[in-house]
Amino acid sequence: MNSTHRLTMPPLALEAGSPNLPNTTELFLQVALDNPLRRLFDYLPPADMPCPPQPGMRVEVPFGRGSQLGVIARISATSQVPTDKLRRASRLLDEEPILDTETLELIEFAADYYQASLGESFAAAMPVLLRQGRSLWPSHTCWRLASNQGSPRRLGSQQRIILERLGDGRHLTEDDLDELGPTAKASARLLTDRGILESYVEQARSQLEPATLPVPGPALNLDQTAAVNTIGGHLGEYACFLLHGVTGSGKTEVYLQAIAQALARGTQALVLVPEIGLTPQSIARFKSRLGVPLAVLHSGMTDSERLHMWRAARQGTAQVIIGTRSAVFAPLPRPGIIIIDEEHDASYKQQEGFRYSARDLAVWRARRLSIPVVLGSATPMLESLANVEAGRYVQLNLPTRAGSAGKPSISLVDLRTNPSRQGLSTPSVIAMERHLKAGGQVLLYLNRRGFAPTLFCPGCAWVAPCPHCDARLTVHGHRQQLLCHHCGTQSPLPFACPQCENELLPMGQGTERIEDTLATVFPDITAVRVDRDTVRARGDIDRVLERVRSGEARILVGTQMLTKGHDFPDVSLVIVINADQGLFGTDFRTAERLAQTIVQVSGRAGRASRPGEVLIQTSCPEHPLLQQLLTDGYEGFAKAAMAEREAARWPPYSRLALLRVEAADAATAMAFLNAARALAEQAGHPGVRLLGPAPAAMERRAGRYRAQLLLEAADRSRLKQLLDPWALKLEALPQARRVRWSLDIDPIEIT
Ligand code: ADP
Ligand code: ZN
Ligand code: ZN
Repeated sequence: MNSTHRLTMPPLALEAGSPNLPNTTELFLQVALDNPLRRLFDYLPPADMPCPPQPGMRVEVPFGRGSQLGVIARISATSQVPTDKLRRASRLLDEEPILDTETLELIEFAADYYQASLGESFAAAMPVLLRQGRSLWPSHTCWRLASNQGSPRRLGSQQRIILERLGDGRHLTEDDLDELGPTAKASARLLTDRGILESYVEQARSQLEPATLPVPGPALNLDQTAAVNTIGGHLGEYACFLLHGVTGSGKTEVYLQAIAQALARGTQALVLVPEIGLTPQSIARFKSRLGVPLAVLHSGMTDSERLHMWRAARQGTAQVIIGTRSAVFAPLPRPGIIIIDEEHDASYKQQEGFRYSARDLAVWRARRLSIPVVLGSATPMLESLANVEAGRYVQLNLPTRAGSAGKPSISLVDLRTNPSRQGLSTPSVIAMERHLKAGGQVLLYLNRRGFAPTLFCPGCAWVAPCPHCDARLTVHGHRQQLLCHHCGTQSPLPFACPQCENELLPMGQGTERIEDTLATVFPDITAVRVDRDTVRARGDIDRVLERVRSGEARILVGTQMLTKGHDFPDVSLVIVINADQGLFGTDFRTAERLAQTIVQVSGRAGRASRPGEVLIQTSCPEHPLLQQLLTDGYEGFAKAAMAEREAARWPPYSRLALLRVEAADAATAMAFLNAARALAEQAGHPGVRLLGPAPAAMERRAGRYRAQLLLEAADRSRLKQLLDPWALKLEALPQARRVRWSLDIDPIEIT
């Protein structure tokens, strides 16, 4: 095998395009390959090169018995591998670096910080078609009518069709011909040989919708104006702003005006939004208000759409790039400003494979680029508030709602004295009647899809278990199935208890059950359900929400999906069906998540002219979290939660890394973690606490046993000192071959 460079060498031995290649006979390419090994691989340059190799170019190299595509991360004058042991790269794929120096640095930083392989980091940053070797500017052959064709005679039927299609100066591409039939290309070539058609090569262009006249927005209020002025005053330099504004306070208007200022300076803006937040409406708002060509990047696009948008960003044709998590790696030749909307959203952290935080990388990138970055939220992460306190971020406040809507009133419904029937307590039903009668709409929030979370036997206390997980099966009434929400296992609903043949009872509530309850309590009013069972594809949610906007449906029942990115101007009452699930979680962030959810879902209500009301159903109304939220809002909650975190040494008062493992049996998983712990102890770990190993909260999932070892340190550098050598040693552990393991830096979930 080839060389083993850890990323401790000076970054980018040569700048892209540097004319001063060192005066040696041979250069060495240090190549990132798409595999999980945490190192670069040294190669000699290809024998035959159209141009000098540069970092950021793709290269095909022999690997094992086959060959692989990789990206040149560095070019070095030395290699630790003896030259006669090095293999030669087979060919360069590019004549110019497809990734610029800044993007390369970002990718390297991300791999280094998150203890990932460079290959994985490159894979996250590049469109899949480029990773597969597609040329950056693919060219394709086109056909058109020859300028001085004779009068064609004796044509076959397919040839006639081709000629018809080419009338009026039109052309056909290879893809078009393929669609006409398997022999159409051959027919076109024949016609070309006869001089009737001519062929030419066309290069792909990254055309976007052209600029339009920007539609003016509302005049900003004083808080918005102050925020825009502060941000605008820092264009051209690094500054990180936390825009803390209640839902509907006009944060997006602040983004738009700050972006407009950046565009006026001829620079680009990068806007990151949560997975669910990138709706056609939000894209349309940015397009119409800014009036500039805009590139959209999200996971629901085809590979060629992604490549098209990525190229437009790289070329600078796109002046605004708006996208989800991975858009943080979008190339920005003229960077001006970065916006992160709903910065607290969990979808910014990738939860598998390469576990990066797009939010944190965006801040790093802004600093590297010397541009401002704006993190916006109604419910900032405690980490962000701590950064404000430490003076690293500047907080900007939008304390009031734009327009006329006031703050909603929030109260608790004690389920012990007001028991719920099929999910709804009497006070909730009465409030619903009141709001519906007054012409309002009602939103019911419950973070459980399906009919009921448990199927229970009153005869022998049996509950339907998942055969592959330490979890119960959820009853799905509409499909008449039991479904595991963790591994996807499905089975038909049993008629009777398999142990005692008693009749079975669904216990607890899911969104389907609430929907059924509504049909009996409010039979004349249309309700819609929004969860992953009713909303599968992008666009589904718009159809559902259109029924709400038009007023046809007046009650919404749904999960987390309802808390993000969508506004319901006519909703005047929000009911949280059950807050208790969120009060007693196993993760130290559970309370923070519940507070964020309650505030976010409350903020969907009463936007326009209707005063909003929020009811929270709970069996523990005296819980301090709920009390704080009620009396002091999110700020009050955050203050108390921070004190708790500090006392318990949780983030933001410490740094975490989590070593996760899964294996075919519990002993194998634990053996790996014990060996990992022993390695850390041998090396010494000053300033780092090792907690575990311990089984995961759900020890068995999809038939695999899961366990973890948590590392906690007061500061990041101590943790990193341990992690850098440790990660490499973990790769080499004999126990590692029998398990799947991963390192999660700054995990957002530790159960
Ligand atoms: P947020 O992003 O904080 O949820 P938005 O920017 O989407 O808030 O604003 C919420 C609503 O208020 C939008 O309909 C927006 O057009 C309107 N709005 C925002 N700022 C103002 C303002 N200064 N005057 C009037 N309406 C405003
Ligand atoms: Zn039974
Ligand atoms: Zn399962």
